[in-house]
Amino acid sequence: MECISVFDMLKIGIGPSSSHTLGPWRAAERWINELKTNESLNLITEVSVDLYGSLSLTGKGHATDYAVILGLSGADPEYIAVNSIEKIVADVKSSNSILLGNNHKITFNVKQHIVFNREFLPFHANGMKFTGTLSNGDTTTQTYYSIGGGFVVVEELTNSEEKLKLKQCFPFPINKAEELTTYCLTQKKKISEVVLDNELSIRSAKEVNSELKRVWDTMLECMYIGCHTEGTLPGGLNVRRRAFDTHKKLMEASKASYTDPESWLIAIRKTEVKFRQILKWVSCFALSVNEVNASLGRVVTAPTNGSAGVIPAVLMYYMVIDNHQADFNHIKRFLLVAGEIGSLFKKGATISAAMGGCQAEIGVSSAMAAGALTELLGGSPQQVLMASEIAMEHHLGLTCDPIGGLVQIPCIERNAMGAIKAINAAELALDSDPSNARVSLDKVINTMWETAKDMNTKYKETSKGGLAIGVNSSDC
Ligand code: SF4
Repeated sequence: MECISVFDMLKIGIGPSSSHTLGPWRAAERWINELKTNESLNLITEVSVDLYGSLSLTGKGHATDYAVILGLSGADPEYIAVNSIEKIVADVKSSNSILLGNNHKITFNVKQHIVFNREFLPFHANGMKFTGTLSNGDTTTQTYYSIGGGFVVVEELTNSEEKLKLKQCFPFPINKAEELTTYCLTQKKKISEVVLDNELSIRSAKEVNSELKRVWDTMLECMYIGCHTEGTLPGGLNVRRRAFDTHKKLMEASKASYTDPESWLIAIRKTEVKFRQILKWVSCFALSVNEVNASLGRVVTAPTNGSAGVIPAVLMYYMVIDNHQADFNHIKRFLLVAGEIGSLFKKGATISAAMGGCQAEIGVSSAMAAGALTELLGGSPQQVLMASEIAMEHHLGLTCDPIGGLVQIPCIERNAMGAIKAINAAELALDSDPSNARVSLDKVINTMWETAKDMNTKYKETSKGGLAIGVNSSDC
């Protein structure tokens, strides 16, 4: 049984993709750290990186080459100054050299040393191989797989050591939604309380609070930046940022002033909201996050970068529209529930679009948000899980077909749709008796996995099917 922390599901990183940007970035960092541990970093004279499968097919649009350069350079995606990214990459390209681990300089030609191979490695669709030549002529290689949500694994360890490390470290080990329900009933606890008990077994209460606060601050700042940034997204599709215009119209009638993300949140509470404005606000929050993500900004993977807008949009909906008294305690409960539901999908199916299409990204994020919102709205644990089930049920079969390999069309709008569905799923569950439900969350997770296995490879983050070929990027 895997022990997946909420902070594994909600990682802070850089866009546009958790599997194609954050994962390769972390893999490159990990390889450099292994070289340092083996005391061989300073003996390296040449490095080459082979990208395989989906990483190769949509890697350019997903900035995988940027991620590899930054990871090899020793930059940390959680803390790097976003405005320094372009310069670091440009310097490597223009100088034909790279400072490995920010320490050891070698010749590095991006076009020659980052190789996009079209074939797939058998273990996973997102494979990458790092090869280093040492000063004595020997070579050292390591292959990693980016398995979605920024998770990176090494094939030979996945069935042994890595799994052993993760085994049964929680007081309430959870593999299935049914087990979570049983803990809630026997312990007389809410889902967020069971999840918190698990987190407290591996970190202090102070750390849980400060890290959850950091996650929320990153989400809020991301929405704030997205709503206040005008223009066109990078990548060549000429996609206009829309959160800016929608936000401007929604705030027009408001006299409230603000200077930062926190005072902005309070100012939004003073705007008039009828049904249409609610739809627009929720969509605006979701669009804002994914516009930041598409422009290599900082987001929280939730559970992936492509679907990073759903959870902040639904949580913000709760904070500014549903409950004006909402505080950090509500944020904390929301994130704990959302993280746990995401981990159920990771264990029982996948959160990787390269394995399961967009149902694994937007579908999972919608299910996470629906369950979390339901708990805050007073739902029982069974209603929380029912809301997640409803949200996923209506995303089953959703394919991944990003135009031009960029995380823009249909990705950005899809976050708005996932957020609205999550809110609707919560309301449906709150008005239902879960004992009458015919489909359980465990059943829908299993169905999602079976659907993923049946799905044609061209709909799994390859940009070889659907909108990606139906729309010519040169027409955009
Ligand atoms: S279509 Fe969905 S899964 Fe594919 S890149 Fe876009 S958001 Fe991610």
